[in-house]
Amino acid sequence: MSNRRDFLKQTAFASAFFLGGISNIKGEEKIDAEPVSAGRETGKSNPSGKAPIVISTWNFGLAANDAAWKVLSSGGNALDAVEKGVQVPEADPKVTSVGYGGLPDRDGHVTLDASIMDQNGNCGAVGCLEHIMHPISVARKVMEKTPYIMLVGEGALEFALANGFTKTDLLTPESKAAWEKWKKENNYTPQKPDMNNHDTIGMVAIDKAGDVSGACTTSGLAWKIHGRVGDSPIIGAGVYVDNEVGGACSTGKGEANMKICGSMLIIELMRNGKTPQQACEETIKRVARKQSDYKDFQLAYLAMNKKGEIGAYALQKGFSYAVAADGVNKLYDSDYLCK
Ligand code: ASP
Repeated sequence: MSNRRDFLKQTAFASAFFLGGISNIKGEEKIDAEPVSAGRETGKSNPSGKAPIVISTWNFGLAANDAAWKVLSSGGNALDAVEKGVQVPEADPKVTSVGYGGLPDRDGHVTLDASIMDQNGNCGAVGCLEHIMHPISVARKVMEKTPYIMLVGEGALEFALANGFTKTDLLTPESKAAWEKWKKENNYTPQKPDMNNHDTIGMVAIDKAGDVSGACTTSGLAWKIHGRVGDSPIIGAGVYVDNEVGGACSTGKGEANMKICGSMLIIELMRNGKTPQQACEETIKRVARKQSDYKDFQLAYLAMNKKGEIGAYALQKGFSYAVAADGVNKLYDSDYLCK
């Protein structure tokens, strides 16, 4: 197996050929263990559809996909892959909208929302969870160890601690400084869910067996009222999976997404014959039809069907998503409605 440095070279080589339009690339088959980011592309992602495939939101999706790909390419299942994948931004203090280092609410609490769903329709979620580095893993424990789907706040924390998770201070010096600056400048006015201070990681994977799982995790809206929970832990809004159809996830203004349960809607549109791209576009257009302020916020969807076809669409410019397929992991700019 090639090491990472060789692999990088091969990937750069392979992408250069890709961009040149030659499809039969010799270096590609070697890329088995670790895909790496091969730059950013505009336009539609177009992998072969051969499983495994993992997709995720935003540029931090690249590193998350790498971790998920490690699981998938060694024969692991999609559920383990999405959990391991989204753990990467959860633990990265530079990602200020997910997990550790996430910007706090207006009282200085870092509160986390997460959900996970497997190929059998099992799901688990946590809302407004504090002090835990990997809320996605607590969501998975809720799914596997309780007869419930969602735990929130203090109860979720107690459950996590009782199940072996340890308490961590998630407020980094940088996020604390940002909060103190915000307090000074904003007079404790809670933040509206506008375009620039939140971004969730949503991820959907298909494993070698063809099974689909999804996950979603965020620190949500910065400077929110304490206790605000977004769409990310709401099954059918933040993420949804149906193993007969595919998976979908969302990022952006949670309140807008919760009003239409967008991820579930995308699954149903795909079930009725839409491609993932058509389903994402129709869902965004529905938001625009039903919510008159749609020009003032960002909302985006990312979806994949069982054939490995991928779709992404956003209200506004700026949404990007990462695709690891055929051994290559790349970032794409999504198309959008408000041009
Ligand atoms: N959807 C998340 C929330 O509303 C934030 C985001 O993805 O930007 O909490």
